[in-house]
Amino acid sequence: MKAAVLHQPGAPLSIAELDLEPPRAGEVQLRVLAAGVCHSDLHYMNGDLQARLPIVLGHEGAGVVEQVGDGVTSVAPGDTVITLWRPRCGNCHFCTTARPALCALGRVNATSGGLLDGTSRLTLDGEKVNHLMGVSCFAERAVVSERSLVRISPDVPAEIAAITGCAVVTGVGAALNVVRDAAGEAVVVIGAGGVGLSAIMGLKLIGAGPIIAVDTAEAPLKKATEVGATHVINVSTQSLNDELAALSPRPIKWAIDAVGSPRTLRSAVDSIGTGGTVVAVGLGKVDATAEIPINPLVQQEKRIVGSLYGTANTPIDIPKLLDLYRAGRLPLDALLGRHYGLDQVNEAYSGLADGNSGRAVLIPGLAT
Ligand SMILES: [Zn+2]
Ligand SMILES: [Zn+2]
Repeated sequence: MKAAVLHQPGAPLSIAELDLEPPRAGEVQLRVLAAGVCHSDLHYMNGDLQARLPIVLGHEGAGVVEQVGDGVTSVAPGDTVITLWRPRCGNCHFCTTARPALCALGRVNATSGGLLDGTSRLTLDGEKVNHLMGVSCFAERAVVSERSLVRISPDVPAEIAAITGCAVVTGVGAALNVVRDAAGEAVVVIGAGGVGLSAIMGLKLIGAGPIIAVDTAEAPLKKATEVGATHVINVSTQSLNDELAALSPRPIKWAIDAVGSPRTLRSAVDSIGTGGTVVAVGLGKVDATAEIPINPLVQQEKRIVGSLYGTANTPIDIPKLLDLYRAGRLPLDALLGRHYGLDQVNEAYSGLADGNSGRAVLIPGLAT
């Protein structure tokens, strides 16, 4: 089967014919219908984040189950599923307290480059190729643990399903599960990419307002307005703090940093008022640090909290978000950008680096 392989950071992905071993016990083989072009994969391509190489990238996928290994009970051939980049054991402290993204199984995948038993199902000319976060869906097919899957209704478009498994649940989840109670409160969202726009939709759903979107480009800010931002600030031409002071007579209660750079985290902390909270959602470079002034944290009781995977109970929350989409309450279609075939993956990532708006999606079955 064809897949997109990263051999070394800085080099383009190569499309190669790989061998895929059939699913072992507890594993599932999927035909990939759609895979989101997410910044996280870009972090591995440019070396900001490190993984075992060579590796098949892709972690936000939707597919159809083709085959199941021994003992698989949660899905069956023909089911439509979303891949999770954090598998869950179902039994640990975090899984049983509705925080499956914090389950220790996620670490196993990251360190071994394999599936849950630490071994890979992928080979290229007889050599082992690693899985990304137990998924690797920039491919025609994928074998993953059943613990990395959520079954969904088949009537959701595949590209919507794919992005819901990462960007959407991360952004909407930060609003629904972390901000939660912000009706009529001012919220700043820094970064209007897939995650930031999803956060804006979630904030609108919980009645927050004003919802202020911040970015460095006009196109994403226009999208932000379409999906629920009441105000936009283009920090390439405007001063964030001056604009915020003019926009919100009340102190800013929440800021969501959907970018994850030292500069954006600092801006988020500076933008909130007394008693405000920053939710750090975007991932930075490995070992990135930010300089945060200490005294406002104390004197103004500012808080900074992290949110992984939308702090969501993924198997429950992902189908719930898709229900909201079908009910017309989450305008996820507005997030979508261009469709690309699998062999156009490098083109899709140069579009992302150039700031093309909308979440691009790879469709392995697309004729190109
Ligand atoms: Zn992602
Ligand atoms: Zn667990």
